[in-house]
Amino acid sequence: MPDYDVIVAGGGHNGLVCAAYLAQAGRRVAVLERRAQAGGIVEVLHTAGRLQAAVIDDLDLRAHGLELIRPDARMIALREDGPPLTFWSDAERTAEGLRAVSAADADAYPRFDAHIRELAGFVAEVQASIPPRLDRAAIGDAAAGLRLARAYRRLGARAARELTRVLPMAAADLVGEWFGHDAIRAALAARGTLFTAMGPWSAGTALVLVADSAGNDGGAAGQTALPRGGPEALAGALVRAARAAGADVRTGAEVARVITRDGRVEGVELASGEQISAPAVACAVDPKTALTRWLDPVVAGPRLRWRAGNIRTPGATARIDLALSGLPAFARVADGTALSGRSVVAPGIDAVEQAFDAWKYGGMSDRPYLEATIPTLAEPDGDGHRMTVLAQWVPYAADPDEVGTKVLAALERVAPGIGGLVTSTTVRTPAAIEREYGLSGGHLYHAEPGLDQFFAWRPVIGLARHRLGLRGLYLCGAGAHPGGGITGGPGRNAAREILRDLRRAG
Ligand SMILES: Cc1cc2nc3c(=O)[nH]c(=O)nc-3n(C[C@H](O)[C@H](O)[C@H](O)COP(=O)(O)OP(=O)(O)OC[C@H]3O[C@@H](n4cnc5c(N)ncnc54)[C@H](O)[C@@H]3O)c2cc1C
Repeated sequence: MPDYDVIVAGGGHNGLVCAAYLAQAGRRVAVLERRAQAGGIVEVLHTAGRLQAAVIDDLDLRAHGLELIRPDARMIALREDGPPLTFWSDAERTAEGLRAVSAADADAYPRFDAHIRELAGFVAEVQASIPPRLDRAAIGDAAAGLRLARAYRRLGARAARELTRVLPMAAADLVGEWFGHDAIRAALAARGTLFTAMGPWSAGTALVLVADSAGNDGGAAGQTALPRGGPEALAGALVRAARAAGADVRTGAEVARVITRDGRVEGVELASGEQISAPAVACAVDPKTALTRWLDPVVAGPRLRWRAGNIRTPGATARIDLALSGLPAFARVADGTALSGRSVVAPGIDAVEQAFDAWKYGGMSDRPYLEATIPTLAEPDGDGHRMTVLAQWVPYAADPDEVGTKVLAALERVAPGIGGLVTSTTVRTPAAIEREYGLSGGHLYHAEPGLDQFFAWRPVIGLARHRLGLRGLYLCGAGAHPGGGITGGPGRNAAREILRDLRRAG
């Protein structure tokens, strides 16, 4: 008898979610995590607002210690040449504030918020479903297709037409249809580029923007939620949920290869040489790693290896951690509570696009697009503060000191004097993120969320149903449908498909 029914290779949040669902269904499951602690990238999260409500409920994460702090201020756009723009969870309150810069945009905001929610509602249905087989439709596909068709019809004729028009658009064009003020446009559109290698004028960034609000209460401003106790509290709750359901979670267990025989999976071999057997292996790492490094090239074959090698993973986001001796004075921020969400530096659509352009040609702009949080505002930690900053777009192998200097200079423009408060700076470039977390290219979403790597095309066409082309081999991480971010979606969907196959196999 094999050691386990399923091995989950990689203990990021999706791996843990997948394992917990499988174990809840009575399967014998092991999670094998290379690092000393499970949770993966969650440990450097910025906000956990996209974690699916269904995952929180199904895995009883609150009982396992998860508490999410949801500040009223979702996002504040800091500006050097005008008052900041605050986006609250209440759209009417946001509109009131926007009136100071544009009455027309203030009137448009609640309608835009409702529009994004309507589109995101349908995208959430897409995210929860398994993409159809495009080569040979099965009865299950017809049922799933019907469910999606019903959800599409529920949108009504106007919104349904709007959906197909909007999703391939550039986020800059989408917000340009609603708003005139450049700073408002930039703050909203930039979210369509977060963690991607696309600028606001890139096609498909409207889809990223809408998908960011799918399955959560994000609306136009997006979600913001901080786990009480920090990221490790979220990772801890997931580990406890998986263990409580019966899964073994092993750390310090680096998977070196997937063992196969006669076209099917038999288990994995660790870097230590230990072999662990199971008829199913769910890869919670990025798909390029799973298919080109873990699978024997002879078994994968040249075509699959070529396709997997071409999965686009251009990491372009850096994380900068600042320890501060006090709270910076943000220019013209009168209400301190406005800083408890995400603070964004996106001066205008073209300014953000130019930051992307610099990266496209191999450099880094002096005016990067920044998104920051100050978790010590919600949970004070002594006299000082911690600020985490995500900076785009940063070349893969950028010099960390140069990145830190540019980011601080950009922050100085909206928070004069911040440099004098910095007591330490840690910079993680895409290359460092790749080294630390094993992500191909250092891409935070395991694969670029472009139109060519979405839904039935994620990670590549033919492998979007969590099955990786070999009996017993699955993908359950962010590189699978429905994609990256701390959502738990790929882990949850993959568990459903694995259980279906296990039931079929008896
Ligand atoms: C700095 C940063 C900030 C982010 N902020 C946010 C945010 O605020 N909100 C948001 O929604 N998303 C955010 N993201 C993106 C998000 O965190 C990821 O998309 C998501 O966590 C991916 O989860 P995962 O479980 O699919 O994969 P991962 O977290 O990448 O997990 C994969 C796991 O596999 C392990 N592994 C790798 N190789 C091996 C091996 N050989 N053997 C065994 N195990 C292995 C890794 O150690 C890791 O634990 C951020 C990402 C980064 C890097």
